[in-house]
Amino acid sequence: MSNNVEHIECLIVGSGPAGYTAAIYSARADMKPVMYAGMQPGGQLTITTDVENYPGYPEGIMGPEMMELFRKQAERFGTDIRYGMITSVDFSGKPPYKVIADETHEILADTVIIATGASAKWLGLSSEERLNGRGVSACAVCDGFFFRGKDVAIVGAGDTACEEASYLAKICSKVYMIVRRDEFRASKAMVHRVQNTPNIEILFNSETEEILGEQKVEAARIKNNKTGESKTIDVQGFFVAIGHKPNTDIFKGFLDMDETGYLKTIPGTSKTNIEGVFACGDAQDKVYRQAVTAAGSGCMAALDAERYIAAKADTTA
Ligand code: NDP
Repeated sequence: MSNNVEHIECLIVGSGPAGYTAAIYSARADMKPVMYAGMQPGGQLTITTDVENYPGYPEGIMGPEMMELFRKQAERFGTDIRYGMITSVDFSGKPPYKVIADETHEILADTVIIATGASAKWLGLSSEERLNGRGVSACAVCDGFFFRGKDVAIVGAGDTACEEASYLAKICSKVYMIVRRDEFRASKAMVHRVQNTPNIEILFNSETEEILGEQKVEAARIKNNKTGESKTIDVQGFFVAIGHKPNTDIFKGFLDMDETGYLKTIPGTSKTNIEGVFACGDAQDKVYRQAVTAAGSGCMAALDAERYIAAKADTTA
C-alpha cells in the first residue's frame, strides 16, 4: 500500500449520467469532487445508440456523444476525473472513510457518492462463456458491426432486447429473437417495431440449450419449452440482452441492499444506511432505470452530500 494518503471532501464512484450529474452539482458547490470513472467511462449509455427520450435533444442524440457532453460539463466545473476503479471501501466507523483505488491508492473521503450503475447479465451456459468475444456478446451496438450481412440470434424480451434486435436487423441478414415466454416484457411501441421488421423472426417459448461452434459461434440449439422439441439455428453471432445486475459487490457487508444487490436508500433521498454515503442511478434503481432518472438522482446525491457536509460544519462550529 502506498503512503500518499489523499483526503478529499467528495468521492464519486462511477461515470454514467448519475455520476456526472453528481459531479456537476458537487463541483459547482465547491466540494472539489474526485470521480473514479471505472472500466467503462460513461457507463451503459456508451453502448447504446440513439437516445430519443432525454429532454433537451429534440432530434435525439447518440449515447456516447451524450456522455461526452456530460463529461465536459463535469470537467468545466473542476471535477477531477480519473480513469480507474475503486477496488475496496471501509465504511465501518465514522467518516472520513478509507477507500482504495486501483488496489493501491488510499483515499480518505468525507462523503462518497455511489453511481456504479449495473452490468449485463448472462445466461450462465458454459458454451456462452467459452465463446464470449468469439461471436457471443451482450452489446449489439458494440459488436453488431462484425456480423454485417450474417445471421444472428438475440435472447431477451425486454426493451433492451427489442432495441438491439431492431439495430441488428439493419446490419444483419436475419435476426432470431429467442423469447422464453409466449409474450414480451417490452413496451408496446418496441414490440410493434420488432414485429414489423421482416428480417426478425421471433421464437416464443424458447430457451437456449447450447451455443455451438469450436473457435467461433456457428449455431445455437434452441428448445421449445412447451413442446420439448429442440432445433438448431445457424447463426454467427449470439447476443444476450436479458437485463442487468447492479455493480455493488464491493459495498457488501456495509450497505443495505436487496437480494439482487440494488442499494437501499431512504425513500425520497439518496441516503444509504451509512452516514455520508449516498447512492444514485441504476445501482439503487431497479424500477425506472432511465438516463434522466439516473441524472436526477445524481443531483439528489450531490445536494444530500453538500447538506451533510454543511450540517456537520454547523455542529462542529
Ligand atoms: P428487463 O429486465 O426489462 O428484461 C429482461 C428480459 O430478459 C425479460 O424479457 C426476461 O424474460 C428476459 N430474461 C431474463 N433472464 C432470462 C434468461 N435466463 N433466459 C432468457 N430470457 C431471460 O431488462 P432490459 O434490459 O430489457 O430493460 C431494463 C430497463 O430499461 C427496463 O425498465 C426497460 O424498460 C428500460 N429500457 C428502456 C429503453 C428505452 O426506453 N429506450 C431501452 C432499453 C431499456 P421475462 O420477460 O420472461 O422475465
